Amino acid sequence: MTVLEALNSAEERLRHIPDPRLDAEYLLAHVLGLPRLNLLMEKRRLLSPRETAAYDALVARRAGREPLQYIIGQQPFMGLSFRTDPRALIPRNDTEALCEAALALLSPGMRALDLCTGSGILGIALSKLRPGVQVTASDISADALALARENADALGAPVRFVQGDLFAPVNGETFDLIVSNPPYIPAALRGKLQAEVEREPALALFAGADGLDFYRRIAREAPGHLAPGGWLLLEIGDDQFPAVQALLSPAFDGITLIRDMNGLPRVIRAERKPI
Ligand code: GLN
Repeated sequence: MTVLEALNSAEERLRHIPDPRLDAEYLLAHVLGLPRLNLLMEKRRLLSPRETAAYDALVARRAGREPLQYIIGQQPFMGLSFRTDPRALIPRNDTEALCEAALALLSPGMRALDLCTGSGILGIALSKLRPGVQVTASDISADALALARENADALGAPVRFVQGDLFAPVNGETFDLIVSNPPYIPAALRGKLQAEVEREPALALFAGADGLDFYRRIAREAPGHLAPGGWLLLEIGDDQFPAVQALLSPAFDGITLIRDMNGLPRVIRAERKPI
């Protein structure tokens, strides 16, 4: 079987998923160890029996709605390549808006906290792209932290990782900037999301009846961990700005909405009021 024939037959087997051709290409590129865009130049290349069998197995996993990024094990974020597996949420392009908003406020010597770091993308990207910023990243999940540490080691990012429930592991510490992409999906949506999202850790997705549980806790606890004038930046669901703004307004000034690359509300930025 040639590369082109393999792609056509995989596309057919993946017809029920959102982007069958694209995923067929990513999976074959992964099996052959090539960049996806090189496949077309090799479309008449013959696959070995071993390559055919390996491809077949990956296409079967994807047909069963396992997320592409868990199968190929990596996903870019902010131009950096991150390892991805079921220990943590898959990095989303939307979250780059949050990272960029944080980068715009950071300069060397500042202390930044990434709460609910998951696979480590925010803390690691801040550390790599703003050298000299002291980055701490926390998560309640030991599995997620293990993955985040692997990512920090692979990318050479000097991030301090701490484990615990929200601010518990940074008791008594203050920061110049806190960034977080916490869980924010209402619990009732569990079982009703896209099949791939349901394969991601529930711990990283669901946040109580209205999806606001973590924003409530962060609004209450973040002021005690921010220097006066320090910044809080949160990823939000696209309909959550008014609710999160209301939660933050007692202790924060200059509450601003930032949209993602699709033009959807995605980030809330706020400055801690002076006491
Ligand atoms: N943006 C993710 C999704 O909609 C949710 C991530 C989160 O809860 N922080 O699948």
